[in-house]
Amino acid sequence: MAKLSDPVTILKGVGQARARQFANLNIYNLRDLICHFPRGYEDRTRMTNISDLEPDVPACFRAVIMNHPRTSHIRKGLDLTRVRVADHSGWLNLTFFNSRYAAEELQYGREYIFYGTLTGDSAGYGMTNPVFEAPDSPAVTTRRILPVYPLTAGLTNGAVLRAVRQALAICDAPAEILPQAVREKYGILSADTAYRVIHEPESMEQTVQAKRRLIFEEFFVFSAGLALTRAARARKRTEPYENRELGPFFSVLPFPLTGAQQRAIGQILEDFGRGTPMNRLVQGDVGSGKTMVAAAAMYCAAQNGKQSALMAPTEILAEQHYASLEKLFAPLGVSMALLTGSMTQKQKRTVRERIASGQVQVTVGTHALLTDATEFAALGLVIADEQHRFGVAQRSKLSAKGEASHLLVMSATPIPRTLALLMYGDLDVSVLDERPPGREPVDTFLVGESYRPRINAFIRKQVQEGHQCFVVCPAVEETETLGVKAASTWAQTLRQTTFPDLKVMLLHGQMKGAEKEAAMAAFARGEADVLVATTVIEVGVDVPNATLMVIEDADRFGLSQLHQLRGRVGRGQAKSYCILTTHNRNPETIQRLKALCKTNDGFRVAEEDLRLRGPGDFFGSRQSGMPAFRMADMSYDMKTLKEAQAAAAEWIDENGASDAPEAVALRERIADLFARSEGTMN
Ligand code: ADP
Ligand code: MG
Repeated sequence: MAKLSDPVTILKGVGQARARQFANLNIYNLRDLICHFPRGYEDRTRMTNISDLEPDVPACFRAVIMNHPRTSHIRKGLDLTRVRVADHSGWLNLTFFNSRYAAEELQYGREYIFYGTLTGDSAGYGMTNPVFEAPDSPAVTTRRILPVYPLTAGLTNGAVLRAVRQALAICDAPAEILPQAVREKYGILSADTAYRVIHEPESMEQTVQAKRRLIFEEFFVFSAGLALTRAARARKRTEPYENRELGPFFSVLPFPLTGAQQRAIGQILEDFGRGTPMNRLVQGDVGSGKTMVAAAAMYCAAQNGKQSALMAPTEILAEQHYASLEKLFAPLGVSMALLTGSMTQKQKRTVRERIASGQVQVTVGTHALLTDATEFAALGLVIADEQHRFGVAQRSKLSAKGEASHLLVMSATPIPRTLALLMYGDLDVSVLDERPPGREPVDTFLVGESYRPRINAFIRKQVQEGHQCFVVCPAVEETETLGVKAASTWAQTLRQTTFPDLKVMLLHGQMKGAEKEAAMAAFARGEADVLVATTVIEVGVDVPNATLMVIEDADRFGLSQLHQLRGRVGRGQAKSYCILTTHNRNPETIQRLKALCKTNDGFRVAEEDLRLRGPGDFFGSRQSGMPAFRMADMSYDMKTLKEAQAAAAEWIDENGASDAPEAVALRERIADLFARSEGTMN
């Protein structure tokens, strides 16, 4: 018996070259191989007579070869092999392109099982490149449900199939980690059955059960992991903050806080007084004022002799935070420093020294702060802004940075409540569900290409009124994705042809960090009228004078991402607009985009997205910060997710510290899953 940890090279037919191909799919050992799930199935079980074959409906049939296969050389690189086959019901001409195998294998007078699709018109029917095998050979490519695997260059589906089949024959399936009681309660297949059936199903119904088991398993592991993390943190001790008086802070604010902001700050102050480290998520739509909540928390930490680190996903955003917080903190005597990757070594060293000696109370930087050599004299609070961009492993790393320090993560991604509970099971959640007063909603329109002259006129009108416009494209270069607007070429068109009299700037993710920042800063200073950009502008940048957001080929973006982009306008006093363009006529796509025109409430948008597309989208996207689930490209249903979470919570409560084999295997799987999710940070 082989072990799951044995390398794939122990399989027959898998040498170094093949192993390298498997490595491209992150498959190194037998476990990886067995966990390489099909992305779909082809049902090749249907047998029929030749006379019952229907065009465009693939099927299997058993037939005899009626003549010697003839191969003709059409031109360089094109050989055609033709042969006629027949059964009791009729005959059929088969054509194979460049198939040495068919030419040599098919024998006059012999019988084979074929699988293929009938094609043809009034000139006659035929079949091209059917697969075939002898009736007495094992069913590999015909008479079965064929798993279709994710592949890589040089690796065929057949090669994966054979390797998986061998692996399942020589080693046990991954250990059972779902307790028997859970499996019985929720009607879940055993691990052994599920892993076999997912690769070698006998019916399509079986595949549904196997998928359900594997999805349930992944969410059970994930939820159990979060529950364990939460329990471990609750056992840590920290000095309660005695001084929780924020009067001076409130008195320097230029505006009264919203009720939601006050509530969130109140919850944070309670956490600070508790004596265990805070683990809190502040979830609030773009513009809901999360920065002020962070500022209040950092002020409180400073009053208690503790340092804070605020981390942003980009340098631009870090600098913007630094600038706005400095204005707020200067009169309060809170000392600050900025630490970003583009600073010189010498600058960084100076800043680090000030942090290490405790002269700096609040440090603002990029997420690199987390991994780099920065030593804090007395780190008490770590804040991660726009946390949706990194995963669960980072959350625990963050809090590991300061011994038992408080952790506050802030996310603008409106995740529907049900999913938030799943994804942030290790955190307490404060929701900012209220906007600062005086903000008018951003009027949003969905238009087709025929509106182009009107869009252009509207851009011009905004500029004439002294405002600025964003134009967002789904790609940077024309070649990247066919048929969508590319920022670089579109910027050129606007600059040269449409608006020769306006200042049009370009900003995209492939520009160097310094260039990007210069462009963004220049636009924020009002040095250009129109900024053509990719989604790099998605997070954080504040340009209150921008009143129009045009999003080209809007169907290429997820709803939540569109909502996020729209949040870049409507940040000033003037009325703001968002125009979504699309060529797409798919009614579902149109319905999805129209949902955005109907509401400015990010949570409503997210609920709608969930309703229309299912949770797979939230987890599948890089945005979610979820670990890389192996079943992620398969469809989820909320019911399974919720059941798995409930089962995990219940089980961890009762058996979290158990030494039973299932519990040990489960903890190993949790460690593995969270380790894999580290790659999702960017
Ligand atoms: P986000 O939640 O998107 O991070 P910000 O913290 O950047 O939002 O706040 C958006 C804008 O709203 C900023 O210009 C900020 O100064 C302002 N703001 C925050 N809170 C209030 C408030 N209570 N009243 C008025 N304006 C506010
Ligand atoms: Mg923000």
